Amino acid sequence: MASTRFPYAPAPESRAVVNLRPSYGLFVNGEFVEPSDGTMFETVDPSSEEVLAQVTSAGPVDVDRAVTAASRAQQEVWGPMPGKERAKYLYRIARLVQERSRELAVLESLDNGKPIRESRDVDIPLVAAHFFYYAGWADKLSYAGLGPAPRPLGVAGQIVPWNFPLLMAAWKIAPALATGNTCVLKPAETTPLSALLLAEIVQQAELPPGVVNVVTGAGATGAALVEHPGVDKIAFTGSTEVGKAIQRRLAGTKRRLTLELGGKAANIVFEDAAISQAVEGIVNGIFFNQGHVCCAGSRLLVQESVADTVVGALKSRLETLRLGDPLDKNTDIGAINSSRQLDKIRELAGSGDAEGATRWSPECVLPDRGYWFPPTVFTDVAPAHRIAREEIFGPVLSVLTFRTPDEAVAKANNTTYGLSAGVWTEKGSRILWMARQLRAGVVWANTFNRFDPTSPFGGYRESGFGREGGRHGLEAYLDA
Ligand code: NAP
Ligand code: MG
Repeated sequence: MASTRFPYAPAPESRAVVNLRPSYGLFVNGEFVEPSDGTMFETVDPSSEEVLAQVTSAGPVDVDRAVTAASRAQQEVWGPMPGKERAKYLYRIARLVQERSRELAVLESLDNGKPIRESRDVDIPLVAAHFFYYAGWADKLSYAGLGPAPRPLGVAGQIVPWNFPLLMAAWKIAPALATGNTCVLKPAETTPLSALLLAEIVQQAELPPGVVNVVTGAGATGAALVEHPGVDKIAFTGSTEVGKAIQRRLAGTKRRLTLELGGKAANIVFEDAAISQAVEGIVNGIFFNQGHVCCAGSRLLVQESVADTVVGALKSRLETLRLGDPLDKNTDIGAINSSRQLDKIRELAGSGDAEGATRWSPECVLPDRGYWFPPTVFTDVAPAHRIAREEIFGPVLSVLTFRTPDEAVAKANNTTYGLSAGVWTEKGSRILWMARQLRAGVVWANTFNRFDPTSPFGGYRESGFGREGGRHGLEAYLDA
C-alpha cells in the first residue's frame, strides 16, 4: 500500500486443486441427493463476484429426510457403536482433512474471501486438530467427569455462520460424533462449499450413512431444522438476534440448546506492555479474517500515557498490510464476505463519523470488483458511540483510553456481550487480577485470537452459553 515500499509480485495459489461442480445437491444418508421441495441458489466468490456454483436450498421436506436419516443412524448404528470404534472414523476424517488440506484451504478462500495464508495456516489445521482431539475422547467418556456412563442426546441440529465455515462445522461435528450423536449441519448461505467438500470426506472415510448430513440453504432452512421435533439438540453459532429467536422457540421443550453469539471484545494495553508485541496483537485481534471474528478485539483500550505511541505504531504497521486477492499468498486482508455485510460495515463506520469520532485508514487501493473495506481505525471514540457498543464484524477498530486498571475493567465490562478480552502488560499479577475482573469467556494475556481444541470457548451474557472445545465441549452433547 505505502508507495515508498517495494511492490510484491503476485503469488497466487493455484485454483486447479479444487474441482468445483456446477451444482450441488444435499448430503443426506451418505449420498448427494436432489432436493424434494428445495430450490437452487448461487454462491459467489466475494473478491470477484464470480458465481462459483449452484447450491441447493433445502425445504422442510428435505430437512425432514435428513433428520430421519440421522435419527435412524443414531439409534441403529452410531449410538450403540463402542467409543473406540467411533474414534477410528474421527481419526480417519482428521487424516483426510490433512491430506486434502490444500484443496480445502483454496475452496474456503474462494467461497469466503479470507486470505489463503489464514485458511491454509489457521482454519484447516485447526479443523484437523479438532477431529484428532475429539477422536481421543470417544473411548474415554466415562472418565470425563460427567458420570460413569453418559449418554448421547440423539440428533444434533447444527447451524454455523460464514466467517469460519469449515472450522465452525468441525467445532460442532467432532464433539457430537465422539459422544455418539449424529448430525444435521446447516452451513451459512454465502459459504456452503467447504461443508459439501467435508461431506465428500465423510463419504471417503466410509462413515455409516446418516451419521453426518448437510442441508444447505438460507435462514429458512435453519429455521426448519430448529422447528423439527426429531432434533434433540440445537447447536447454533451466529448473531445474538437469531440466537434469541431460537432460544424463544425451544423454551419449554426438552430439546437442548447451546448458543455461540456475537461479541465486542476489549483489547487492553497497559503502559508497561511490550509495545511492538502489543501492536502485532492489536492487528491480529481486529484485522485477522477482515474482522469477521466473533471474539475480535474490536475495542482497543489503551492507557492514556502510551496512547499516542501505540496508535502511532499501529498506523505505521497498518501501512504495511496488503489488501487484495485472497488467493495471493502475500495477502493480509481479503474480501468482505458479502455485499450485505459490506453495507453493514459502511453504515456503522458512517455512524462513527456522524457521532464525532475520527476515521483513519492507510493509503490503500480497493479492487474494482468484489466487496472490500480498508483497514480502519477510529480515534476520539466515546463509550456511548455506536462503534464502541455494536458489533461491526469488519476491519474497523475503535480506540478508547483509560487511566487506571479499575477504569480499564469498568470500560471493558461496559458491554452487553462477554465473549473475549485481551490484556497486554508485563506484570503477571495484573494479568491474574484482570482475568478475574473481566466478564468474558476467554481472556488472552499478551496474545490474541489464539485457539486450541483442548481449550473451551464460549460466552457470558449476550454472547451466549455453552462451551465448545476441550472437555467442557463434551457436556453439550451428553446426558449425564
Ligand atoms: P446469523 O444471521 O445469525 O447466521 C448464522 C447462521 O444461522 C447461518 O447459517 C444463517 O443462515 C442461520 N440462520 C439465519 N436465520 C435463522 C433462523 N431464523 N433460524 C435458524 N437459523 C438461521 O449470523 P451472521 O450474521 O451470518 O453471522 C455473524 C454472527 O455470528 C456475528 O454476530 C458473530 O459474532 C457470530 N459468531 C459467533 C461465533 C462464536 O463462536 N460465538 C463464531 C462466529 C460467528 P444464513 O447464512 O442464510 O443467514
Ligand atoms: Mg446471515
